[in-house]
Amino acid sequence: MRKPFISANWKMNKTVGETGEFINSFLPMVKDVTDVDMLIAPPFTSLHAASRLLKDTGVKLGAQNVFYEEKGAFTGEISPAMLLSAGCSCVIIGHSERRQYFMETDEIVNRKIKTARENGLEVILCIGESLNEREENRTFEVLDRQLSGSLKDINLDAMTIAYEPIWAIGTGKTATKEQANEAHAYIRGWLKKNREGADTLRILYGGSVTPENVAALMSEPEVDGALVGGASLKPDSFAKIVKGARKQ
Ligand code: PEP
Repeated sequence: MRKPFISANWKMNKTVGETGEFINSFLPMVKDVTDVDMLIAPPFTSLHAASRLLKDTGVKLGAQNVFYEEKGAFTGEISPAMLLSAGCSCVIIGHSERRQYFMETDEIVNRKIKTARENGLEVILCIGESLNEREENRTFEVLDRQLSGSLKDINLDAMTIAYEPIWAIGTGKTATKEQANEAHAYIRGWLKKNREGADTLRILYGGSVTPENVAALMSEPEVDGALVGGASLKPDSFAKIVKGARKQ
């Protein structure tokens, strides 16, 4: 059985001080949780402070982005080695906001995954269709294109996939558990056909996950966890999501 995995994506929220306040209040709430893997992805500026507070706890630290070169004249970018030195073990790559606002293509996502993995970082790869694409019945075609482009020449070691339908991100409009399960099953089917190790890879759902809807989503066989934006910004709400993710 795949262990549930709940990850917080804070996006461009929280200063260093606010990060510390969150972690100090969140950790006691989840101190007895051993049956769910947890990860927090704060902004770059909070990573080092967060890593000190999360040391020797069950909560892993992730970054929200990384660059595909190792070092050099790339003003404003952050390398995998920098993330590791700040205490990260994982990085989110290909989030739809990065694809939309920063023109990240599947080719760029692919390069980022390669460099991150070569440096020993785990990767959460985000994929998902827009509302238009769903309404035109092109969801599977989009997933197919994103999987083959983003995972070109990449095996499934240290990988997690997050299925995040763009129309559900930050909108309060969650995919139904059936819609999530159907997309996850399609993704796992694609991976089984094209890669080794698809049975143990975890597929997270992302898109307006809350303490109220997490248990229903997790009741689906193909939903192994969640990538949570808005509802991960408050310690009690995120702790409730972690606890609600336990498989019954
Ligand atoms: C996300 O940012 O990955 C996300 C799913 O956001 P939200 O939970 O706010 O929809």
